Amino acid sequence: MLDNSKNIYKCKACGKSFTVKISNAGYPGGKERENIDCPWCSVENGSEITSGIITTHKVITEGDVVQ
Ligand SMILES: [Zn+2]
Repeated sequence: MLDNSKNIYKCKACGKSFTVKISNAGYPGGKERENIDCPWCSVENGSEITSGIITTHKVITEGDVVQ
C-alpha cells in the first residue's frame, strides 16, 4: 500500500496548519481510537479509528514565525 495518507488539517484552536499521517503499524490488530493532536498547541482536533499510528507535523507557511 502506498503511503500517501497525508492530509492537511487546520487546528480549530490556533488556526495553524499541520499534516496528519497515518503510519501502518506493520501488524494486524485491533483498531483503536487515536487522537489527532495539534503539533502547535496540543489541542485535540478529532480522532480516527485506526490500527496504525497517527503522527502530526507542523506545516510552515509563509508568514509563520518558526519558534
Ligand atoms: Zn493548534
